[in-house]
Amino acid sequence: MKAVFLDRDGVINALVYHQDAGVIDAPFTRSQFKLLPRVPEAIRLLNDLGLRIAIVSNQPGIAKGHLKPEMLKSFERTMLSRIRAAGGRIDRVYYCLHHPAAKVAKLRQRCRCRKPEIGLLEQAAADLHVSLDECYMIGDGINDLLAGSRAGCRTIFVGRWKCEICRFTEAQHVRAASVASDLWEAAQFIRTEMTETRQPASSPSCRSAQA
Ligand SMILES: [Mg+2]
Ligand SMILES: [Zn+2]
Repeated sequence: MKAVFLDRDGVINALVYHQDAGVIDAPFTRSQFKLLPRVPEAIRLLNDLGLRIAIVSNQPGIAKGHLKPEMLKSFERTMLSRIRAAGGRIDRVYYCLHHPAAKVAKLRQRCRCRKPEIGLLEQAAADLHVSLDECYMIGDGINDLLAGSRAGCRTIFVGRWKCEICRFTEAQHVRAASVASDLWEAAQFIRTEMTETRQPASSPSCRSAQA
């Protein structure tokens, strides 16, 4: 495998409970943007495995009027610098800013980049000069698993809602290669899988049957 695509909200940074609206969503303000535990270390581990890293993230918050583009950029700077400080590196960052019901007219569209569409993943693979079947897609949402699966990536689900989410995706014949409680655990899974496949295939593992 050559690259890992990462969802942002719920994988890199914590989701936020917006009390006024009564919803759980992406952060809208600087103080709401908090990296999840062990994220920089997980990125560094993936770097050490020789994998390129791209963020592929739906960010409809600007379209919906929740935040300004400068705020999204500020989150990105925080994310990249915190990860860099721990010795990790993110190679590319891609957002879909669109939403079909956007308040901001120029972002109101049905696009090919909003996951579960695969436009962001295709762009990332092209820019990193890798093919999609050499990539992992890691996310905490159904749309991450669907996009990853449609693109031909190996998918890893991050979260604790295992059964519920899997029930939805399995109805669409999408099954994650692994379920991890956080990005660090997902990175450990990738390390194990890559170490196993590098060795001569003396003992067939049950994982290869799922592929
Ligand atoms: Mg997410
Ligand atoms: Zn889009």
